[in-house]
Amino acid sequence: MAKMQWPKWTSITLGLALAALTAVGSVKAADCPREDALGTSRIVSVDAKTTPRVGLKSFPQTLPLADHEVVLTFDDGPRPKTTSKVLEALAQECVRATFFLVGRSAAEHPEMVKRIAREGHTIGHHTWSHPHMARIPADAARYEIDHGIASDEMALHGVSTSTPSTPFFRFPYFESTPAQLDLLQARGIVVFGADLWASDWNDMTPEQELKLITERITAAGKGIILFHDAQARTAAMMPAFLRYLRENGFHIVHIVPADTSQRNAEAR
Ligand SMILES: [Zn+2]
Repeated sequence: MAKMQWPKWTSITLGLALAALTAVGSVKAADCPREDALGTSRIVSVDAKTTPRVGLKSFPQTLPLADHEVVLTFDDGPRPKTTSKVLEALAQECVRATFFLVGRSAAEHPEMVKRIAREGHTIGHHTWSHPHMARIPADAARYEIDHGIASDEMALHGVSTSTPSTPFFRFPYFESTPAQLDLLQARGIVVFGADLWASDWNDMTPEQELKLITERITAAGKGIILFHDAQARTAAMMPAFLRYLRENGFHIVHIVPADTSQRNAEAR
């Protein structure tokens, strides 16, 4: 197992086909107090123009991850009690993740939204009230998208805007309609599915969840993993899961939006 160094923002070497899918991002490394931490091995910027939808559970394509590369994503927060534990586990290992927030919860806990961003994580959007989007009228679905984004932006930056500073979106229950997917693509918003998940919405102990997700990531070898930071069992097993990744040679990839100035210039 290769020992991870920190900081270790490696530039990405991708084949031409992969380069067409994602641009390479680079950021300044944060300080990591622990030399033997898992760390974040590289950063990938994701652009809706080239990758409008990712995640093999829902779509034919996903991010061009190398073997043993993992993207950590957390849905349904913020929920202070459990989200704070997840954040502590990530900080302990100097790992960056992506949180898809429920707008209603963001409005209730803006301090937690700011903390997630302050600690270097990416904030994506997960509707206003977490409905089954394929089962509600089109105007209600549009409201769920716009009001959810506006609520997250208000918590983050004090501005109520339906133009997301990070144009990443995930549908609750992975339920969408073709029209909704088209709408998000037209707005330059990347729709995230997942490549694998911990099934942490099911009733199980943290130990059972740990066993399940470590078996799944070992079998898959890489991928975008879906967790729920609102789930106590996930918060409880996260330190052990990150330790497992470190001890088994996995690398963390952090996803960020494509260059903002470029996006604004092209958003018409
Ligand atoms: Zn959800």
